[in-house]
Amino acid sequence: MTYVVTDNCVRCKYTDCVTVCPVDCFYEGNNMLVIDPDACIDCGVCVLECPAEAIFAESPDLTKWVEINRTYAKKWPNITKKKPALSEAKEMDGKKNKFENFFDPS
Ligand code: SF4
Ligand code: SF4
Repeated sequence: MTYVVTDNCVRCKYTDCVTVCPVDCFYEGNNMLVIDPDACIDCGVCVLECPAEAIFAESPDLTKWVEINRTYAKKWPNITKKKPALSEAKEMDGKKNKFENFFDPS
């Protein structure tokens, strides 16, 4: 089991989640964070910290997100300190299909 970051993080990236993770398993891309599914210890404390409600426990309908989190956790740098949210975070919060339309893989 793991927790995963999903669609609503894209272009919000509030980063509140990284301050509470006991195993520092968040990784940062230009407009989204991901969790390393192999390092997450399933504590769940990050879920309530996310203003965008973008973090969920792994489930069969989130398989795609587990793979996205795993892939980019290997490519992106680790993040452990909160930083300012993206400037468009409020405006983008709750928009649909952000990953398909706006995800930045770098
Ligand atoms: S707190 Fe939520 S929106 Fe912010 S970076 Fe973490 S997962 Fe993304
Ligand atoms: S569930 Fe716990 S271990 Fe996993 S990413 Fe969230 S805070 Fe970190």
